[in-house]
Amino acid sequence: MNFDKPNPFDPRPDLKIWFNGKIVPVSEAKISIFDHCILYGDGVFEGLRVYEGKVFRLTQHLRRLEHSARAVRLELPMTRDEMAAAVNEAVAANNVRDGYVRLVVTRGVGYLGLSHTRTANPTVFIIADQIELYPKELYEKGMAVISTSVVRNHPNAVAPRIKSCNYLNNILAKIEGLDAGVYEAIMYNHLGYVAECTGDNIFLVRDGLIQTPPITAGILEGVTRDVVIELARELKIPLREMDLTRHDLYVADECFLTGSAAEVIPVTKIDGRPIGDGMPGPTTRKLMSSFRELVRRGG
Ligand code: PMP
Repeated sequence: MNFDKPNPFDPRPDLKIWFNGKIVPVSEAKISIFDHCILYGDGVFEGLRVYEGKVFRLTQHLRRLEHSARAVRLELPMTRDEMAAAVNEAVAANNVRDGYVRLVVTRGVGYLGLSHTRTANPTVFIIADQIELYPKELYEKGMAVISTSVVRNHPNAVAPRIKSCNYLNNILAKIEGLDAGVYEAIMYNHLGYVAECTGDNIFLVRDGLIQTPPITAGILEGVTRDVVIELARELKIPLREMDLTRHDLYVADECFLTGSAAEVIPVTKIDGRPIGDGMPGPTTRKLMSSFRELVRRGG
């Protein structure tokens, strides 16, 4: 991995963006410096996945977007059906068969000052493109992560259930991870229990039981997390949502992360310690293959 390599803003020039109701070339998708999303991180977003040309769990993502918007008193300028149509338009405009969609709703343009009432209409834009989040070999060998000193936002501050455009909490943890030479970092909550990673939910397996932090630990209600919970039920593997500590991380037999971009990815090292035998475990592998099968079937 080469952390020194710059990653300049370099979208493919033929990329088309759904921008406030129109498909435009990426060079024309421009946002004001006075948009409160730029000034304050005031906006909400979603990250979705496309498989075989179809957006995976679109309704669940749009429902979460509505909840995020409602929680920050941002009135979405489009209905759920209109939003779904817009996402599909962005996917079609870029001929995305297998890829990723970023849907962003900003607070809109306003002058300096925090007041959400003194802003104009939200800007909605949708990017649909290819994706590769983590290198392929990590899905075979497993990934190393750290548990970070950056505490996840208190649920009564910026609730982690809100997928807001202010991701600095996660970015600080990510920086600590990158500085330690790993791609992802586990965050504890204000009570010292495991919450989630910077862009993924976390699961452990111990003595045949799948364990994952409850929503009340202060985490994003991951769409992929819900899928894995459903799969575990179908496969009759016991699963419990429970508070987990650093100790639970270190004594787990298996660990894996879930996210729309990451899908299901095994973790084989935490804070330099091998997890289980240091290889992706059987439960993780079973869930990875069930997940692949599910998305191949069309969700
Ligand atoms: N937690 C955080 C903080 C995230 O940003 C994400 C990615 N959106 C997730 C968990 C995973 O959620 P999902 O499965 O819905 O992508």
